[in-house]
Amino acid sequence: MSQERRYSFEFFPTKTDAGHEKLLATARQLASYNPDFFSCTYGAGGSTRDRTLNTVLQLENEVKVPAAPHLSCVGDSKDDLRSLLTQYKAAGIQRIVALRGDLPSGMGMASGELRYANELVEFIRQESGEHFHIEVAAYPEMHPQARNFEDDLNNFVRKAKAGANSAITQYFFNADSYFYFVERVQQMGVDIPVVPGIMPITNYSKLARFSDACGAEIPRWIRKQLEAYGDDVKSIQQFGEEVITRMCEQLLQGGAPGLHFYTLNQAEPSLAIWSNLKLPR
Ligand code: FAD
Repeated sequence: MSQERRYSFEFFPTKTDAGHEKLLATARQLASYNPDFFSCTYGAGGSTRDRTLNTVLQLENEVKVPAAPHLSCVGDSKDDLRSLLTQYKAAGIQRIVALRGDLPSGMGMASGELRYANELVEFIRQESGEHFHIEVAAYPEMHPQARNFEDDLNNFVRKAKAGANSAITQYFFNADSYFYFVERVQQMGVDIPVVPGIMPITNYSKLARFSDACGAEIPRWIRKQLEAYGDDVKSIQQFGEEVITRMCEQLLQGGAPGLHFYTLNQAEPSLAIWSNLKLPR
């Protein structure tokens, strides 16, 4: 992990014009910190196909920060994926976050032709050669549907061997899980950068719901403290900022190759951590 550190911010495409304007305002604010790239999520099954495409093109061309679309394979046909890859390539996009995705409940079982992210990575390489820098997802606390941790590690290695250039982790609140994951995949011969995904803490009930669904563990001492604050949003944010800043310090001191912030389209929570860490502007 000797390469220069990289910093990035993630957005989700919004449904309303007002939400989209807010996203762009947030992106402009974050752009002044010179991140390496922005990324924009994709609704598995294609539910945000046009919105992700348009958002990425605006981030790249108007906000002028390299933008990486997320692309997921469940529920999308190879033709759908090929068409998006062609459009991204033509627009000068150089990075893609390649995922399996989770179909929203109610959309039934996966109907795409590619079942797992390693197959999507292979497909992108077949279609576009080395044009794209491919990011994949990593799960230091194990993907919630994996049979066990070892199986999940093997599946991660499969994605790297299929041609992924680097990885972004699911968020976590325990730096040891990250270091252990990285050590294990390195022992398995994979040395692509694995960048920690950082979730600022701003709202306890939403965080608890989301963490249950994606398999991120909120340590007891953090959960209890957040619960104790009740509706005291200011204290939740102050405590959250302190906890996440400390974890980021540990991660960077321990050799993490950068940080990827899940912004939820808000600038301030990520920037507070950025400034506590005295990251370069
Ligand atoms: P995979 O790597 O395919 O793994 C999925 C599960 O299958 C794991 O349990 C794994 O162990 C197992 N597995 C993998 N390969 C095989 C194989 N060949 N055979 C058998 N089992 C296998 N979701 C979205 O819908 N849109 C987004 O934009 C989005 N962005 C994300 C960004 C990041 C950084 C992260 C960490 C997650 C994101 N997600 C997104 C969520 C992600 O789609 C889900 O976590 C999904 O359930 C798994 O996606 P994956 O790419 O990790 O899948």
